[in-house]
Amino acid sequence: MPRRTVAVIGAGAAGLAAARELLRVGLHVAVFEKSGRTGGTWAYDPRADDADPLSRDPAAAGAVHGSLYASLRTNLPRELMGFSDFPMAGRVFAGDARAFPGHREVLAFLDAFAEEHGVLAHVRLRTEVLRVRPEQGERWVVAFRGEDGEVAEEVFDAVVVCNGHWTVPFVPKIQGIGNWSGKQMHSHNYRTPEPFQNQIVVTVGMGASGIDIALDISHVAKEVHIASRYSEDRLGKFNLYQNVWIHKEIECIQDDGKVRFAEGSAVPADVILYCTGYHYYFPFIDLDGLTVDDNRVGPLYKNVFPPKYAPNLSFVGLTTKTIIFPSLELESKWVAAVLSGKATLPSQEDMMASVLEHYRRMEEAGRPKRHTHVIMPEWEEHMNWLADQVGEPHLEARRLELLVKALCGTWSLDEGYRDHCEQDDDRDTTALKGLFGLV
Ligand code: FAD
Repeated sequence: MPRRTVAVIGAGAAGLAAARELLRVGLHVAVFEKSGRTGGTWAYDPRADDADPLSRDPAAAGAVHGSLYASLRTNLPRELMGFSDFPMAGRVFAGDARAFPGHREVLAFLDAFAEEHGVLAHVRLRTEVLRVRPEQGERWVVAFRGEDGEVAEEVFDAVVVCNGHWTVPFVPKIQGIGNWSGKQMHSHNYRTPEPFQNQIVVTVGMGASGIDIALDISHVAKEVHIASRYSEDRLGKFNLYQNVWIHKEIECIQDDGKVRFAEGSAVPADVILYCTGYHYYFPFIDLDGLTVDDNRVGPLYKNVFPPKYAPNLSFVGLTTKTIIFPSLELESKWVAAVLSGKATLPSQEDMMASVLEHYRRMEEAGRPKRHTHVIMPEWEEHMNWLADQVGEPHLEARRLELLVKALCGTWSLDEGYRDHCEQDDDRDTTALKGLFGLV
C-alpha cells in the first residue's frame, strides 16, 4: 500500500505541530511555506506596511505576514507554550530564560522542535500555495508557486490548512472617520514606539496586544488614551502611569476633529491605532459550501473539519482565547489519528448537526457570529474533548491556574506583571474567572 500523502499549508507553530503528528503516524508529508523560514508569526519581521498602515489589501504585493512588535514578550508563561513531549518550561533556547520570554526565544523553541522531530526536511520554503481543489471527490490538487517562480501542481490525499490568522486587520467603522485628517494604523503594522514621540495616541482595544502596545507607546508619547468596550469600571486616568487614560469605546469623530468616547470625553488625537484583531483569510480556497462569513469559517466540525470535505481537508489553529500551542498539538493529533485510520469521524450529517447546535447555542447566549472560533468560555471543555479523541490526559489544574494568573496580569495593566506573575498568589481572580468561564 503506498503511504498516504498530506500537504500542510504553512510552517508556523500549527504547520510544524501538524507535520510532526502526521509524520509520527507514518504519513508522507509536504509542508508548503511561502516565506524563507519556518516559525510563522514568531519570526519577527521589522518591515511594516507603511504605504497602507491599515493594510486594507491582503493580496498586495509585498504584504507582510507577521504582526509582532519588537518588544513583544509572550502573554502566556512558558509552561503554557510548549508541546507535551517537547516543553518550553525548564529549558532555554535562545538565552532568554524568563517565564514570559521574548519572541526570539519562542522562535528558537520552534526551530528546535522542528529539527528534533525531523520536520525541517519536509518543508518547502519560498513555496506559496495558490489554490487547493478536490479531484474526483477523494484527492486534492495543490497549485503552488515554487522557489523558482514557476507555478506547478501536485496531487495529495489530504490537505491540512495552517496558514495563520493574525495578518489581515479587522478595522471597526467609526462615525465621522472619513473627514478625519489624523493618522490611522492597525497593530499589524506596529513595531516600535519611536514614531509616536510626543503624540496624542488613541489605541482601540484591550486585548493582550492592545494593552502591551499602549504601554509601550506611553514611554514616548504625550498622552495615550485606551478605548475599549470592556472598560466600564476602570474609566479615567490610569494610576500606574502619568499619561495613560482609559475610556469607553470611540463614539465618533467630532466636527472639530476630536475623538469622542462613549462616556462623553473627547481628545485631539494625532493617531488612532486599532488593536482590534484580525480576519480569517484563505485566498487559496474557493470551495462550494465552505465560507468565511463575518469571521466565521464554516461549517467546521469542532473548528477543524468541514463536514462536506472531511476528513481530507482540515484546519489547524483557528481557535482563539485558548492555550494555543497545546491546542494546536491536540488538533494535530486528532487530524493525524483520523487520516491514519486510528480515529473515525461521525457521519457528515451528524457533524453538520453538531455545528448547527454550536451556532444555536452561540445565538442563545447572545454571542456574535464573528466569535465562532473564540472558544471562551467552553475552552477547557473543548481541549478536554480533543484530548479524549486522541487518548491524551485532560488539562492539569495547575495549567488552568497559570492561565488565570496570566490573564489577570494582562488586565492589571501593570507592565511588570510578567516578572512577578508567578508570585501573585493573593490576587483576587474571581471576576476574571467568571468572565472567562473558568469558575
Ligand atoms: P502563523 O504563525 O501565522 O504561521 C502561518 C504560516 O503560514 C506562515 O509562516 C505563513 O508564511 C504561511 N503561509 C500563509 N499562507 C501561505 C500560503 N498560501 N502558502 C504557503 N505558506 C503560507 N500565542 C501564544 O501562544 N502566546 C503568545 O504570547 C502569543 N502572542 C501573540 C502576539 C501577537 C502580536 C500575535 C499576532 C500572535 C500571538 N500569539 C501568541 C498567537 C500566535 O499567532 C500563535 O502562537 C501561533 O504563532 C500561530 O501559529 P500558526 O501556525 O497558526 O500561524
